[in-house]
This record gives sequence, structure tokens and C-alpha cells, in this order.
Amino acid sequence: MKDYKGYIFDMDGVVYRGNTLIPGAVETLKSLKRIGKRLVFVSNNSTRARDDYAERIREMGLPIEMEEVIPATYATARFLADNYAEKRIFVVGALGLIKELLRAELMLVDTPEKADILVTGSDPAINYQKLSQATLLLLNGKLWVTTNTDKLYPAEDRIIPGTGAVVGALQYITGRAPDVVIGKPSRHIMEQALKALGVGREDCLMVGDIIESDVLAGKNAGIDTALVLTGVTSREDVEKSEIKPDYVLNSIKELEM
Ligand SMILES: [Mg+2]
Repeated sequence: MKDYKGYIFDMDGVVYRGNTLIPGAVETLKSLKRIGKRLVFVSNNSTRARDDYAERIREMGLPIEMEEVIPATYATARFLADNYAEKRIFVVGALGLIKELLRAELMLVDTPEKADILVTGSDPAINYQKLSQATLLLLNGKLWVTTNTDKLYPAEDRIIPGTGAVVGALQYITGRAPDVVIGKPSRHIMEQALKALGVGREDCLMVGDIIESDVLAGKNAGIDTALVLTGVTSREDVEKSEIKPDYVLNSIKELEM
């Protein structure tokens, strides 16, 4: 394997599964840090702010700083602050997303008539009124930025609907697709990760467990990719897929130095 200066890690299926750390993950991450490698963790999570997300990871037993994690909430806020700082935003999403948007000093409005942009994320309080308001915005041709388009998430003992519950409904109703997707496999979240790493893309490796999400995100951002087999994708899936990672690893442990 090439000698990389920085690593971008997906979390679920790479570092932990559910609430359990993958064996050897903490030691591997520590060994990489010890020899001066730069690490950052990306997640399509659209319900937790950066600090709350880091806190949750620490509770699992992985020492991690807020600056090392890039959830989709934070990446979405940074993208909007960089490109649409003056625009008024209507949000269909959870409190963690709203927290990040406010931290980025973006202007949030609660009447769709006053908004320039619709931002969507997973919303545990989604209801008919919110869908009606978002529909109005989309039918008026306003920009639609979404944290991600994930259909399903693995929860502790079951599968739960992802942001797709919101995005899919709006897409079906309006016939429109999101104009900008921030989370994986989009390059936008990867650009924020690269910025946080401070390493050139040629010196960086993306490590993830899902071909269509993590490996594709790496490729979309021009970064080398490693697929680990501790999550969703199996070796057979890799062989069948058109998208080929640069490396296939049994687990994150194979990166230990
Ligand atoms: Mg994963």
C-alpha cells in the first residue's frame, strides 16, 4: 500500500457496528496518529451537530475531537456558508442540523414564502405541514440542498428510514430531484473532509464499507479508496460491482503501522 499522509474514515461498519467498536479499531487509529498521520471521520448523519456526534463516538470508547468529525450536518452548513451566505433558508430536518446552520451564521426562516433555499435532512418530526411547505418552495423553483439521500440506516436491532423518507416523498410529489447532495457519495462532504485534513488529495486514502457510497465518494473526489469487509459490502459484492476500490481489506486493523 502507498504511504498516505491522511485518511478519511467512514464510521459505521468501519470503526464500529451499531454501538460496538470493531476489534482493533482503536489501536489502529492510535497507531496511525502516533506516527503523525492525519485522520478525519465522515458520516452522512443529518441529525447530530458536530460536537454531539463526537460526544456519541467518545461514549463508545473512541477518543476523538470535534474537529476530527465531519457529519453531513456540518458539511451542509459549511457548503451553504461558502456558497449561499446571504440566502434565506427553510429547513426540514432535525435540531442537530438547525444547530449547525445557525453556527455557520446562516439565515433561517420558518415561512416558506420568505425562503430562497430548501434544506432537507432526516426529520423525526416530519409531518404533512412541513411537506406542504417544502413542496411550495420546490414548485416555486427554489434551490434544494439535501444533507444526503440515504434510504435506510441500520439502528441497534432494526432498520430505520433515512433522509430518503423526506427526499423521496418530495421527489415523488414534485417530480424534482435535489439540486445539491452533500453527503456521500457526493464529493461535497469529501471536500470538507480534505479541508479539515489539510492534506493533498493524492496523499489521502478514503476508507469505507459501502462501495456505492464510500468508494464512489472517494472516486468522485479523486481520492484513493480502501473497502473494508466489516460492514455492508462483501467480497462477492466487490467482484460484481463496476466500482473498484484500490484496496480491499478484511478490516481497519490491516492499516495498523
Ligand atoms: Mg459505513
